[in-house]
Formats: sequence, C-alpha cells, structure tokens
Amino acid sequence: MANKPVPVLQLQKVERHYDDVGARLEVLKGADLTIQTGELVALVAPSGAGKSTLLHTAGLLEKPNGGEVIISGQACSSLSDRQRTARRRNDVGYVYQFHHLLPEFSALENVMIPQMIRGLSRKQATTHAQELLEYMRIGDRATHRPSELSGGEQQRVAIARAVANAPLLLLADEPTGNLDPETSSYVFEALEALVRQSGLSGLIATHNHTLAARMDRVITMKDGKLVPFELKK
Ligand code: ADP
Repeated sequence: MANKPVPVLQLQKVERHYDDVGARLEVLKGADLTIQTGELVALVAPSGAGKSTLLHTAGLLEKPNGGEVIISGQACSSLSDRQRTARRRNDVGYVYQFHHLLPEFSALENVMIPQMIRGLSRKQATTHAQELLEYMRIGDRATHRPSELSGGEQQRVAIARAVANAPLLLLADEPTGNLDPETSSYVFEALEALVRQSGLSGLIATHNHTLAARMDRVITMKDGKLVPFELKK
C-alpha cells in the first residue's frame, strides 16, 4: 500500500491570544488546517479577523499559546528557538503587504541575500536571483533599488525573494492589497505561476474574491476557527 503523502502544513487546534491591559483578546480558538503539497489556499476574512496572526503562527514567527503547528510532519512546539529559526528560514517563504525589501540594496541583491545567508556562493546566488527576477519579468530592473521601482515591481521582487531558498510553503499576507486592481491582478498571476511551476504550497490572505477564486480552495475565519468559504458567483 502506498504511503499517504505528508501534508506540508498542519495546524491542530491552534490557539493564540494577546493579553492587553486587563483583557485577553482570543484571536485563534482551535484553528485546524491541512495544506497538501502543491495546494494553494486562499484565506479571505475581514480586517482584524486574525489573518496575520494565523500566518505568523503558521510561519513560526509567533508561537501558539496552544495546539500544534506541524511542518512536513514535524511538530514545531518541541523545537528550540534555533531550530525554529532554521525551519522558518529553510521551509517558509513570506510575502507581506508592504514589500519589506532592504532599501540600500538592489533588487538582485535583495533576492541574493537570503541565499547567501543559507550558504550559497555569491556566484550561485547571483545566477539564481537573476533567473527568478527574469521569471517575474523584472530582470531588466535587477540593478535598481526598491525606491526606484513601482509598487508592483517591488512586490514581484519580494515574491522572488520569498521563494529564493526553495521553501516548501509560501505564506502571503495580502500581497497585492496595496496595489491598484490591474497591477494587483498582474502580480497575483505572477505569484500563482511561480508557485504552481515550483510545486510549492501556499496560503494567501487576500480581500480580493476574484483572485481568491483562482486558488484551489478558499477558507475564512469564524469565531477563531478556519472554515470553508463559498465565494459568490
Ligand atoms: P488581520 O490580519 O485579519 O487584520 P490580525 O491578526 O492582525 O488581523 O489581528 C487580529 C486581532 O488581534 C486584532 O484585533 C488585532 O488588534 C489584535 N492583535 C494583533 N497583534 C497583536 C499584538 N501583538 N498585541 C495585541 N493585539 C494584537
């Protein structure tokens, strides 16, 4: 009998709360989710629902207060801080609504840096970074700094950077939320093509139902849990 494939991401009864003065805000109250290899899932929920909290927790940027985050079959609650950082660096790519590129470096260098931190030579990192920028159709902007790029171009560099170390999972927090509709759809298509071509799995938070409809599955947050979401036709 064939072995069942191990999901890239599993959230099991994940809980996350924030303690503010005198009050506890419970954001995740037993969130369950399974994402298989190559699966692209959209997360659609209103602002303040807890999308960023969920992505940060799934991406090992924040520790859950309860439950378990399992990446490629490995439960992450038992990892040391160092092991968590290594896991995050190797297996998770992150794209934010604002590009968070390093302003003093070129587009190419921004995509090279994570690869060099991981141990690739400058030459290897340069070749791969240039390939990714070409794929995102911004190869001709490689030597420009982020301030010399348009919003859509900055996001395409940020996406190239997020996948530069060939992660298993791409987490994107409203990656086109800051762009005009036309640019947004162009950047989203590029992100989708890259993810599909590389066989990555992805969880993408977006307000845009048209873009969400392109994903394999759409979920939303209800009372701190994740539930399927029916897009209106
Ligand atoms: P979304 O991404 O859907 O807009 P967030 O995950 O950013 O939602 O936030 C969910 C709720 O948790 C919000 O009410 C927000 O104010 C609160 N929150 C998020 N981060 C923190 C924090 N570090 N400390 C206290 N409250 C927070």
